[in-house]
Amino acid sequence: MRARETRRVLVALVAVVAMVCGCGKAVTGTPKAEGEIDAGSVAGLPVTDESQVQTGLKAGAPDSGLQVENGDGGEMDQLALAAVADLYEYWNEQMPADFEGQKFTPLSRLVSYDSKGKSLKLCQTDTKGLVNAFYCSLDDSIAWDRGVLLPELTKQFGKMSVVTVLAHETGHAVQFKLGGKSNITQATKTIVKEQQADCYAGAFFRWIADGKSKRFQISTGEGINKVLATMFFIRDPAGTDANKQGAHGLAWDRVYGFQAGFSGGPTRCARMDQKEIDGRIAEEKFVEKDTQRGNIDINDTTIGKIKSSLDEAFKTSNINPPSFKDNGSKCASGKSTTPVAYCPDDNTVVFDKAALVKLGTPPRRGEEPGLDGVGIGDFAAFAELASRYTLAVQKTVGMNLDDERAGLRTACLVGAWARVAEEKGSGNNTLRISPGDLDEAVAEMLMGKSLIAADINGTPVKAGFARVEAFRIGHNNAKECTARFT
Ligand SMILES: [Zn+2]
Repeated sequence: MRARETRRVLVALVAVVAMVCGCGKAVTGTPKAEGEIDAGSVAGLPVTDESQVQTGLKAGAPDSGLQVENGDGGEMDQLALAAVADLYEYWNEQMPADFEGQKFTPLSRLVSYDSKGKSLKLCQTDTKGLVNAFYCSLDDSIAWDRGVLLPELTKQFGKMSVVTVLAHETGHAVQFKLGGKSNITQATKTIVKEQQADCYAGAFFRWIADGKSKRFQISTGEGINKVLATMFFIRDPAGTDANKQGAHGLAWDRVYGFQAGFSGGPTRCARMDQKEIDGRIAEEKFVEKDTQRGNIDINDTTIGKIKSSLDEAFKTSNINPPSFKDNGSKCASGKSTTPVAYCPDDNTVVFDKAALVKLGTPPRRGEEPGLDGVGIGDFAAFAELASRYTLAVQKTVGMNLDDERAGLRTACLVGAWARVAEEKGSGNNTLRISPGDLDEAVAEMLMGKSLIAADINGTPVKAGFARVEAFRIGHNNAKECTARFT
């Protein structure tokens, strides 16, 4: 069964390459991603940078007018309350519009606590050491840790990460209040609730990005990229579920949830049910089996296996596979990128092994991936290598290598290869990646100076939204890489 699937995907991938050749055949198919992929837009909005829209609180933002229990009146509480006030405005308007006139009722309680400070009992849970934020349906409350969680997120991802957390928790409140209208019953599994909450958060961020918020603004480039990166760090349920991280979805799935809401709005989120998610998160069991997976060392042997896997995936008579060279990532002629470069003149992928090892070393306890030179994981490094390899594929069939579409095509083809490599490779190739690795690719795409969605000069696609979506399109269906990015 597994071998058969592998063959099918390989055939699809070969077909991609064949079609890139410009045989002129139109490819039809149902788009798998939520938004329209366009390097120049984020689900239809123009890509803006910080010089055009400065992400954060607007100058002269109105007071929230809200009270929080146990607050300290400090910056974190003020920021959280501003977010909640904004969320109330959004849902006051959106809930009746989208859900048969149902009125949104504000939360019954908002509670601030310090996980390092005195302990409180909230939602039947002790807050001592609880680095978290959560919605509690028992008393219709949202609580947040102002002592550790919010300041840490702010330090790493900026103030909008606090808004992201509150938007997600309010998403849970909305879902609870909607009940059946959000496809929620007592039996609904955590994963469905989490996906919906991420989706509702995405819908709210669309409203901010559309310029409708009085308090916040966000650039659709860097601003939204950071929000997507924040998704890795939100782990919320209080109580017994708190340790089952798998139940909240991989970052890969979570980013999907956010993007679905951003593109499709709250009604899209309400449609997310177990059936849809089962179909989408096809590898869930695989992930569970794989939780003890160690990180593979990055060395000559494993790099050789990556090359074999790529050769296999892109094997057609028309493709001239590039050679690999560990020379510090220097092209003899033309521009070099780091830690990997594709040198078209001699069809070589050159790399800096030491830098790849660093990138491929997962964070130690307490370190955050992608920050201050902390590595991400093996697949981040392997995907960088793969990205430059796909430039050789693109060159062979005569595509431009130095524009945004090349960056999108690269991400798409890396995603297609990742899908092939998820199944056990054929022949002697024992490389196998797991969906957990996809998180490393997403992290690398969003956090690092990534080549995964970059053209030959190392210029990444501006919108992280489009980077991830292009990767996902290739991962879902390799044929789409040519349908979308010729
Ligand atoms: Zn949640």
